[in-house]
Amino acid sequence: MNRSTNDHRELVQSLRGSGHRLTPQREMVLGVIADSETHLTAEQVLARVRKQHPHLNKSAVYRSLDLLTEIGLVTVTDLGGGKSEYELLRQPSHHHLVCNKCKHVTVMDNALLVPLGRKIKAKYGFQPSLHHFAIFGTCHKCQTRSAGHKKR
Ligand SMILES: [Zn+2]
Ligand SMILES: [Zn+2]
Repeated sequence: MNRSTNDHRELVQSLRGSGHRLTPQREMVLGVIADSETHLTAEQVLARVRKQHPHLNKSAVYRSLDLLTEIGLVTVTDLGGGKSEYELLRQPSHHHLVCNKCKHVTVMDNALLVPLGRKIKAKYGFQPSLHHFAIFGTCHKCQTRSAGHKKR
């Protein structure tokens, strides 16, 4: 728990450093995301914030989410199903391999994308933000399943 408190403090610093006021809503929203081990949808963030502060305004929470995303403290990814999921932008970056069939999600090491980032920079002079990706496909299990019986 100590670690998460430290992280939190650092986050608060970077929010201040970005020139944004740290309103109580923003701090609460950030805290909820920082304490979560998994991705959260906007509704889940709202539900968790409201556990502590039942009267908090929904649109204020959503606006805080947008702002935290904009300044790069939080990433938002569509992990399929049309739902945007929020997560703290942790270092080092990680990515997700999402199975289209069973929806299983595997975490992918960022090291695989470092060479790709360099190549994009070299070829196009473009600095890509490869922080948080969802790559869709078919997981190993589902591949072997469909190679055998076509039952599912
Ligand atoms: Zn993630
Ligand atoms: Zn699968």
